[in-house]
Amino acid sequence: MSKPEKFFDENGLRLDGRRVDEIRPMKIEVGVLSRADGSCYLEWGNNKVLAGVFGPRELHPRRMQRPDTAIVRYRYNMAAFSVEDRIRPGPNRRSTEISKVSREAFEPVVMTHLYPSAVIDVFAEVLQADAGTRTAAINAAAIALADAGIPMKGLVSACAVGKVDGKLVLDLGKEEDNYGDADLPVAMTQDGDITLIQMDGNLTQDEFKEAMEMVKVGGKQILEIQREALKSKFSQFKTEEIEEAAVIETPEPDATIDETVGIETEVDESVETDTEVIETEDDNEKVGAVFVEDDANDKEPDENTDDEDVEEGEINE
Ligand code: UDP
Repeated sequence: MSKPEKFFDENGLRLDGRRVDEIRPMKIEVGVLSRADGSCYLEWGNNKVLAGVFGPRELHPRRMQRPDTAIVRYRYNMAAFSVEDRIRPGPNRRSTEISKVSREAFEPVVMTHLYPSAVIDVFAEVLQADAGTRTAAINAAAIALADAGIPMKGLVSACAVGKVDGKLVLDLGKEEDNYGDADLPVAMTQDGDITLIQMDGNLTQDEFKEAMEMVKVGGKQILEIQREALKSKFSQFKTEEIEEAAVIETPEPDATIDETVGIETEVDESVETDTEVIETEDDNEKVGAVFVEDDANDKEPDENTDDEDVEEGEINE
């Protein structure tokens, strides 16, 4: 790929025909992996990303456990075939950094205190890369976490903004990313709080302020797409199917729920005494199979936790 002669046409449109404040088309599929607790396949322009969430499950080896909280591990990985030049498989400096900052992007929303001694593993696999893969991976991971029923205060949405030929542009394409003057990936909560911010290149203070306004608008658009994807998955189930599929064991029957993106849980007297049933609400604006109980520690980690081969070095802390 060589540097384009110009980045904008006579109408001010970008190389792929977008306006400066327009994001690339995004397509999300929820629950695509049968062995993951939650998963998401996301296409964003020419990016293709798969996210899988496993857990909460008991953390092994036990010496890595934190008695007051679950830990979140996040692995961002680019497939060897995802870029023009093959990437050497395995972690590298870039993927280690992206994994770390992406894990931190979820810290303010994932309610880890509910699962002491547990681990929640997030895997983000980039299958095809075309600029903005860390943000694409975060968007997919947020959906996969919600799909796994991990209690969260809200979704996380991510988008980059940058500068090309002196103009601010939202959601950089590949040429804009490679040959632009600045690249500013940002992740935010649904309340607009910033949970990740990185920057390559230079912006003036005024440009930076304007860029942040642009990226917040982009983040809101992505949040809507994420919500729609979750709604379309969970609205297809009839309440009885959800009851059958999602009876969650809890010791306390009187849990009241949900500051979060979740489908609310509620005690169903017809079900055995110590169970909770996830139900949908027709007029519920909230999305995702997330349920939250204020009193911590009630969900047992998975039984299947004999993965003693987890190494200390794999934990992104
Ligand atoms: N890229 C590549 N090889 C690499 C890393 C990145 O070809 O080893 C490409 C890939 O298309 C990626 C883009 O460069 O999407 C921009 O990479 P950057 O490090 O800015 O991260 P991203 O924008 O993907 O989050």
